[in-house]
Amino acid sequence: MSESLIKIEAIINGEKYKAEKQAPRENPTHPDEIVGYAPVNTVEDTIRAIDVAHDTFTTWRETPIEERIKRMRSAIQKIKDNTPEIAELLSREHGKALYDSEGEIGVSLMWMEYACDNVTEVLKNEVQAHDNGKTIIAKDAIGVVSAITPWNYPISLSTIKVAPALLTGNTMVLKPSPLAPLAVSKVIEIIADEFPPGVLNMVHGEAEVGVELTSNPKVAKIAFTGGTDTAKHIMKAAADTIKHMTLELGGNDAAIVLRDFDVNDEKAMRRLVISNFLTAGQICMIAKRIYVDKSIYDQFVEKYMEAANKWIRVGDPFDENVTVGPVNNQKQAKYVQSLVDDAEGKGAKVVKLGKILDQDLFEEGYFMQPTVVLGADQNDPIVVKEQFGPTVPILPFENDQHAIELANDSIFGLTSSVWGKEEHAIEIAKHIQAGTTMINTAAIQGLDVRFPFGGVKQSGVGREYGKEGILAYTDTHVINVPENLDLPYIPE
Ligand code: NAD
Repeated sequence: MSESLIKIEAIINGEKYKAEKQAPRENPTHPDEIVGYAPVNTVEDTIRAIDVAHDTFTTWRETPIEERIKRMRSAIQKIKDNTPEIAELLSREHGKALYDSEGEIGVSLMWMEYACDNVTEVLKNEVQAHDNGKTIIAKDAIGVVSAITPWNYPISLSTIKVAPALLTGNTMVLKPSPLAPLAVSKVIEIIADEFPPGVLNMVHGEAEVGVELTSNPKVAKIAFTGGTDTAKHIMKAAADTIKHMTLELGGNDAAIVLRDFDVNDEKAMRRLVISNFLTAGQICMIAKRIYVDKSIYDQFVEKYMEAANKWIRVGDPFDENVTVGPVNNQKQAKYVQSLVDDAEGKGAKVVKLGKILDQDLFEEGYFMQPTVVLGADQNDPIVVKEQFGPTVPILPFENDQHAIELANDSIFGLTSSVWGKEEHAIEIAKHIQAGTTMINTAAIQGLDVRFPFGGVKQSGVGREYGKEGILAYTDTHVINVPENLDLPYIPE
């Protein structure tokens, strides 16, 4: 697959659907190279996909759970069999290092398996016999789900939605991001092939396709991962038809380093560095600002740089020595650079981290040298905004209470982490406003698909992963069988 040009089509009703227009996807490592083409679907194509998903829903929701699981397990096996090729394609179109692409597919499979293993129990009717008869509490499928996903983890953030939605009896139309549309489409093709036509459909395109997916009256639920600003448009688009919604949005995750953190613990320090720079910092749950107790600040910065300089090796995603690839697209690279420049212009010190393994390649692609920003202010854009790239500010704090205040001083609340002696760290964690707080680790290193994941404040609505991530695709349906059928206070 490595050098061939990939051409993707939409999938509607189990068939490849030819769009009139196609958009190229470049390779961020070698921007002159086109990796492949994805369709630019129209609003009409999107309506067609939604209609098909809507028509298929009534039969799919009645399909026995055992059959749904069997089909999903078969898809899992086929994705496993094709992992090397899919990972390679993902690295070419995305820019993430090959180990990182393989890791993303691994986490996706882990979740899909978890969903298969647990869906039967989650959907089990609860039957309550009580003093007035009995009540059955059932979990019903919701209907057509529109799934809209971003470019940074295209496969895991799609399968996180597809697996529970289909297993619980919903049908779906999924739209990947145009900035990494190819590898995820291969995965969706595999899954769609295992299911009856119309159960899983896929369209591609930009905002106008997204607007149809989020406003069409036949869509019952939106499962969106992406930026907070886009989510605001989506909420408005969905308001007229009161849709269910799971929103996984931006974050500005704080890492708090306590006075009892051992700066000489090389493994812990490396975990922290990884939690800042994995996938070139383009992860919603990356640690995006570090706060360090002022009593250890200087030693911390010195040891942090040592660890960062060791772990960060920037270069070709296919070079096995490389840990950090290019940024996914030029717009993002420019945005991250503008935040760094702004901080530097205001007097902060910007220190370059790691090694550039191939200078010519570095200049050719959308590479950025990872940096740490020292001396920024809490109100500077580099601290307030979600940088989503390879740079991180480090700020000192006065005491634990101050650290909590700084961490909570954000419109976001996705994940966070506390680094130090376990009991102390847990105590601090309890006061942080976030969907997840990890102790002595952060980002994907502390992720566990068995537990719910999502944000508070403007980082999101609802949860993915865990049993909650399956339940999110169901509605509660109460079947009440009362013994006393007449209410005594209503006159005859
Ligand atoms: P984005 O919001 O620009 O795009 C996400 C998706 O929405 C894309 O498929 C895009 O085409 C589509 N879209 C754009 N405009 C739309 C509209 N008006 N209506 C409907 N859909 C529309 O996000 P991005 O740049 O692709 O991804 C980066 C963002 O995603 C970051 O903010 C990151 O934090 C967030 N993210 C969050 C999580 C999480 O789990 N919380 C995970 C990964 C990424």
